[in-house]
Amino acid sequence: MTHRAIAIDGPSGAGKSTLAKAIAKELGFLYVDTGAIYRTVGLAALQRNVSPADEPAVLALLPSLVITSGYGEDGLQHMYLQGEDVTEAIRQHAVSDAASQVSAIPGVRAYLLEMQRRFAAEHDVIMDGRDIGTVVLPGAQVKVFLTADPPDRAQRRYEELLARGQTADFDTVLADVEARDYRDTHRAAAPLKQAEDAILLDTTGLPFEESRALLLTLVKEKLAL
Ligand code: C5P
Repeated sequence: MTHRAIAIDGPSGAGKSTLAKAIAKELGFLYVDTGAIYRTVGLAALQRNVSPADEPAVLALLPSLVITSGYGEDGLQHMYLQGEDVTEAIRQHAVSDAASQVSAIPGVRAYLLEMQRRFAAEHDVIMDGRDIGTVVLPGAQVKVFLTADPPDRAQRRYEELLARGQTADFDTVLADVEARDYRDTHRAAAPLKQAEDAILLDTTGLPFEESRALLLTLVKEKLAL
């Protein structure tokens, strides 16, 4: 039996993961956070003192990495690096930047492609990332490009960091969001862009509940549920 797939792409802080998790729960689909996989590679580079921008060094590192994921009792995706649970560690600010840099390396993207496709071969999935509708799952039944204005997205990231007990400065977070946007959309390998057959959902100024209801309606319509 072929499984159903929902691809959610968009820039950081658009609310992809929160919305995708809510939809996954509602529909009984598996939620796959592909950013977490790139973050795990970024963390591995930092831990081994490899510059995330040093392509040959990062590529040399890949075969030694044991990256796995599993689902906790909470139904959420946990990431493991060499068997150690790094779910929390990959959310650190420095890791966001490292993930964005390693993800620009074509060899890293190719290496992680099969891992991502395996999830979709084995489960009904809602997968979020930057190139899910364009590269990873071009045959997904539903494709959504989720976005919001940069200050809105920076505000969400800022609140997330504070909620995790990390110190943050709004202007720095906004500058980081803009820098990551630039890097994600201008890289040669699988740049962030809306798939031709993706539906654009702009959540600027929309409360979570409204975005959730909009997305759920759209997904149900497409999947004829
Ligand atoms: O989504 P998240 O912010 O956790 O992703 C971290 C970084 O990983 C992003 O800045 C992006 O550069 C990269 N990424 C990617 N392709 C994906 C998911 C994430 O390039 N499918």
